[in-house]
Amino acid sequence: MELTLDLRTIFVTGALTCLIIGVMQLMAFATGRFTRSPVWWGASSLCIGTGLLAAAFRDRLPDLITVEFANTAMLGGCLLLLFGIRAFGGRDLNWLGFGLVLLGAWTLLALFPGEEGFPARVMVVGTVMTLCDAAIVREAIRLGRREGLRSAWVLAGLFAPTVVIYLGRMLLAGQDQIGSTLFPPDSGALGWLAATGVAFVILRGQALLLLPTERSNRMLASLAQRDPLTGAMNRSGLEQWFAEQTHGDQRNELPASLLLVDIDHFKALNDTRGHAAGDEILRIFASAVRGQLRKDDILVRQGGDEFAIILPGIRVREAVRIADRIRNVFRDALAGVEGLPLPPTLSIGVAEADLRGLSLDQLLAEADEALYRAKRLGRDRVQAQLKTAKA
Ligand code: GH3
Ligand code: MG
Repeated sequence: MELTLDLRTIFVTGALTCLIIGVMQLMAFATGRFTRSPVWWGASSLCIGTGLLAAAFRDRLPDLITVEFANTAMLGGCLLLLFGIRAFGGRDLNWLGFGLVLLGAWTLLALFPGEEGFPARVMVVGTVMTLCDAAIVREAIRLGRREGLRSAWVLAGLFAPTVVIYLGRMLLAGQDQIGSTLFPPDSGALGWLAATGVAFVILRGQALLLLPTERSNRMLASLAQRDPLTGAMNRSGLEQWFAEQTHGDQRNELPASLLLVDIDHFKALNDTRGHAAGDEILRIFASAVRGQLRKDDILVRQGGDEFAIILPGIRVREAVRIADRIRNVFRDALAGVEGLPLPPTLSIGVAEADLRGLSLDQLLAEADEALYRAKRLGRDRVQAQLKTAKA
């Protein structure tokens, strides 16, 4: 037995679903847990819901409400969604374009009235919807690539199918195979298509809320792993990094060098120039070091004026050269700072190890031993761990 779904009922269900999702998105914003993005999603859902509800009364209320207003409200909702995603990605918003598209759509819809105008109206609405959803897919892919947000990929996956569906519908409308009314007496597969559309609307609403949630979680995790003064990783970030590196296949070696850096006579600088000047030196140090590091190298603030630098894949000889370069770059960076008669220097201890064969504490202890020697030999120098230096 064939199960046909009543299209008009599905339109009303879809409209109510959109309105409920819209209110939920606005409530999510009101909790303050998210950024402003749910306001965009909420406004968009309310517009689409209103448009669908108005369209559900086609042939029962004047066309001005069920055609021109209904379609323009839906298109406005789709554009708001696109704008919201663009705003989320920090992109420009063209409000003039927004207004012109809606005005143009309203005018064109009014130019093709009645049943004869139906295929042309499907073309008008389909064109805007296709372009809008394709633009949303593009923005989502961009977000997924740039920020590595998984929810952005989910979103791209949820908007891509509608681009195809709208294109198919426009193709049929172009060949005049779409009938002449939104609610034909025998709706056939259209009812199921519309019901699938409602399911998509719900999934999209959920995926949209995941977007700011995922971003704010990432920001919190990154804040928890960073030192706010220098932007370097903190100890907890280092431990997580180390655990990630040493996780997995234990057969392959993972050589790396560790530089343990301590600023010389930093306490004296703090005492004579003040704590704020000391902070500035720490910032200058971190930025000078960053300029010398590759993408996979990491800078960690161990505490106070002590930093660790991990150079994956670098052997101790090369690491000693890099350490010397850092010492020189730091000295050059301080040359421009006024009121430093005796600029602070760096003592650096270098150790190399296979990260999979040694614990983080053991590696740090080896570098610390070398650093201690650098201090004892008169500071402002680089020393390597003895066992490798002898080898
Ligand atoms: P040494 O050459 O032996 O390293 O001598 P030092 O004076 O640098 O001694 P040490 O490394 O033990 O001193 C670290 C000082 O760093 C102690 C503390 O006053 C200062 N310090 C720690 N954290 C901060 C900070 O966040 N900002 C500033 N301005 N100073 C800090
Ligand atoms: Mg020091």
